Amino acid sequence: MDAENTNHEALDAAARVPSESDLETLSRQLNRPVRDVVEIGARCICGNPLVATTAPRLSSGIPFPTTYYLTHPVITSAVSRLEAAGLMNEMNAELGENTDLAAAYAHAHEAYLAVREAIGERSGTGPVPEIAGVSAGGMPTRVKCLHVLVGHSLAAGKGVNPLGDRALEDIAEWWTKDICRCTGAWDTQAPAPSQDRSRHVKTQAIDPALKKAERAAARAAREAAALESDAASPKGTEV
Ligand SMILES: [Zn+2]
Repeated sequence: MDAENTNHEALDAAARVPSESDLETLSRQLNRPVRDVVEIGARCICGNPLVATTAPRLSSGIPFPTTYYLTHPVITSAVSRLEAAGLMNEMNAELGENTDLAAAYAHAHEAYLAVREAIGERSGTGPVPEIAGVSAGGMPTRVKCLHVLVGHSLAAGKGVNPLGDRALEDIAEWWTKDICRCTGAWDTQAPAPSQDRSRHVKTQAIDPALKKAERAAARAAREAAALESDAASPKGTEV
């Protein structure tokens, strides 16, 4: 790993700053208004956003473990194809057998947490104890969402998340980082989806991906609590 990548962020500070035009592009890519995006995690060679970075606590106060959100429609649909083809099952099986891979993947989890903490600092969120130790996408031991891993790989640069890197290699026929695939990938003509035009600002503020992430965080917290109480109570005392 080269020295440049020890902070696990592909873009430098200036390139991470989202412009108004970036936010509009994100809204067009996702076909909904984006919220709580604090940085751009990765960009196309043309400059368009590939990954939106969300702070670990939303402006509503809700803890948000999923830092990187893949937004580019060409990449998201290519990754969906890999998921549909069963790649996550293969990866989970391999994680159970290949200890080197499992160790590298566990390291990716740590890198994810470290950079999320840095993003929390930069964005003014500060520490978010509710999601301490909880990353995303199934890390550190499972693969539950390839989009999360690919988002991490793009934002971190190659060599940080082995399974995200592998998924990127597997979508090479549809997208590679050296070729711009933006033209026609989203509607650039219609008005950008805007929260000002929305009649349902409150309900849209919590979109399905966000709800899913919240449930995952709550589940992880419960599992962690259960593990602790298992460790604390002697075996055979369950009723
Ligand atoms: Zn492009």
